Amino acid sequence: MHSLKKTRLMEFLGTLRARHAVAAPVKRNGVRSFELISDETELDLSGLPEYSAKKFFFPPRELLYGYKVTAKGVEITPAAPPEEELVVFGMRPCDVKAVEVTDRFFLEYGARDPYYAARRKKITVVGIYSAKKGEHFYCDMLGNTFAEGADLILWDAGKHFLVESKTAKGEKLAATARRLLEPTKEKPEPIDCPVNFDRGAVRELPEDDPLWKELGDKCLDCGACTTVCPTCTCFDIVDEPALDGKSGARYRVWASCTTDDFTRVAGGYVFRKDEAARARFRTLHKFDYTTRQYGLISCTGCGRCSRECLTKVAMVDAAIRAGIRKNNAKKNAAGKKPAD
Ligand code: SF4
Ligand code: SF4
Repeated sequence: MHSLKKTRLMEFLGTLRARHAVAAPVKRNGVRSFELISDETELDLSGLPEYSAKKFFFPPRELLYGYKVTAKGVEITPAAPPEEELVVFGMRPCDVKAVEVTDRFFLEYGARDPYYAARRKKITVVGIYSAKKGEHFYCDMLGNTFAEGADLILWDAGKHFLVESKTAKGEKLAATARRLLEPTKEKPEPIDCPVNFDRGAVRELPEDDPLWKELGDKCLDCGACTTVCPTCTCFDIVDEPALDGKSGARYRVWASCTTDDFTRVAGGYVFRKDEAARARFRTLHKFDYTTRQYGLISCTGCGRCSRECLTKVAMVDAAIRAGIRKNNAKKNAAGKKPAD
């Protein structure tokens, strides 16, 4: 464990930037997001950015391969894997948790995704953890342990950070800025995250529960919630043929389960037509399906979907409400005082 004075944070970041490409939270045109930086003074740690760092792990539009029809058949040219190392700096615990979710989905669940794997190998994650939380955050309710996903953690300890290497990558990165770090025996305060609601309660709500209609009636199908969500990994595959009719390229693009296009199949049939069914699907996907598929709730509690939704649909709040209700019912039945 090492200590880094807060007054030397910019110098620390500058040292990393001298050797690597660095993406960090910045505010540009009034919007906070993770972007590649060329000047560390741009760093903005004032709150959770509206956009997570997901695009550096899973780009919104990604070339998979080019193709060309030749006399011998179809020639495929796979997209070149990234060559440059990238440091993603300043990720909050919920966003680091999201990396655990996307890693699980792309690398362990089903077939290993070679495009994600190639990018992920080049990324070093640097977390900045603090016990402070904002009004839309639910991470404390979701039992995030904050242990997985980060290579290096800067724990906010008041006037200084405690710098903890979690992996060999993190150790190597910290070594590049060793002159700014002092060894210490101090330990970070553990962030306590008790799970205080029943995370699976939404799965018990029937398809015609009024909650789904309440959420669906307000939904505009805009897809903002899935765009800002750090764990939404749905995608579509799009072919872009060239005008010569003999070549083209195949791309992977983000998709949103809150739009009717998401379940449009050949012949134009849409099998999840109404917003209520889509709200139910998204909520269950986060709180039930991925738990069963790969053992993780795929909501980190970052609160972005509720914060950015124009009509305040707040599916996650609804799942939490349902879980608290169920917990309270259990406590009442056991004769204990229910939670607020
Ligand atoms: S829930 Fe809100 S953000 Fe998501 S698609 Fe519906 S209106 Fe848009
Ligand atoms: S569902 Fe909402 S609260 Fe959960 S991770 Fe996605 S954006 Fe964050």
